[in-house]
Amino acid sequence: MSIARLARPEIQSLHAYDAAEQVEDTIRLNANESPIAIAGDQFRRPLNRYPEVRPQKLRRALARRFGCSPDVLLVTRGSSEAIDLLVRTFCRAGEDSVLTTSPSFSMYRHYAEVQGARTIEVAARAEDDFAIDVDAMLAACEASTRLIFVCSPNNPTGTSLPRPQLEKLLRERGNRSAIVVDEAYVEFSGNPSVIELLETHPNLLVLRTLSKALAFAGARCGAVVGPDAVIRMLSAVQAPYALATPVVECVEDALRDEQIALAERAVATIIAERQRLVNEIRAFGFVKKIWPSEANFFLIEVEDAGKVLECCQHQRILLRHFGGELASCIRVSVGSKEENDRLLRVLATLQRSDA
Ligand code: PMP
Repeated sequence: MSIARLARPEIQSLHAYDAAEQVEDTIRLNANESPIAIAGDQFRRPLNRYPEVRPQKLRRALARRFGCSPDVLLVTRGSSEAIDLLVRTFCRAGEDSVLTTSPSFSMYRHYAEVQGARTIEVAARAEDDFAIDVDAMLAACEASTRLIFVCSPNNPTGTSLPRPQLEKLLRERGNRSAIVVDEAYVEFSGNPSVIELLETHPNLLVLRTLSKALAFAGARCGAVVGPDAVIRMLSAVQAPYALATPVVECVEDALRDEQIALAERAVATIIAERQRLVNEIRAFGFVKKIWPSEANFFLIEVEDAGKVLECCQHQRILLRHFGGELASCIRVSVGSKEENDRLLRVLATLQRSDA
């Protein structure tokens, strides 16, 4: 049985929206578009015309970049949209559940709530360096658990799930759940993408985004990669013409080799800056712990989180605080060299005022 059979029955039989045909070099009197372009000519496809229902050239470019075939990839408006599509496709309101770890990215729970699906959270503990316990995840699964979200590297802890652990989860859950690995930060980890496991694991789906390493958060572009039967259903659920012409064209341009080379250099700089920040911040007396991170941020535990946040905010530097179990922790995103220098100077003043 394919994991496509876990989807809501009404979605399994849903047909894709029947959009007006698009054929090159034809007179288009079939889509109620304006015949007159008034938006200037800066785009290759004029803006009076709808974009492609699904952007095929961009799909092929992303598939090439991520090392998969285009039929197993859907281009989405950031990976956030992919999370929403997955939950809406797989979870019946009031019946099905999503399983994830805690702390992790809050959007999994958010979209589950929007859909009326329950969220089961498996705690990763600070004293275990937030390692994900796959046995605990397996034990927490219920018959209703359609989707399992694994964020690796995890936001906000920076920890990756080791490959053998993921393979155990995939093997033991089999076709009872779809396992979604969110690789938003994978380029900062030095680990290869788990997309290479797709061929051997038909219950795996992978989320990728252009918002982090590729520095394209403003374009809202990401992708979900997985079995073609699931990709077809997600595509039927996604809005037609979801990706706007300016976005499609600007991302196509961003995926050219010279742009990718620039992005790769930026990733190397961010990783080096992450190491520099960690080394320097570790020396401050008010810092109790820094967790090793494989992402473009890291989590620190401090004596008085409120004081650090306030002092930084006063100097117009924003850091991220989460309540609950992370009340004494702060997530620091790695900035540019100048921004990081400024952060270090502000933290040094805090250190002196503490002394
Ligand atoms: N996954 C994770 C783990 C994230 O941290 C984020 C953004 N913070 C996203 C997905 C969503 O990113 P986007 O929609 O920009 O692709």
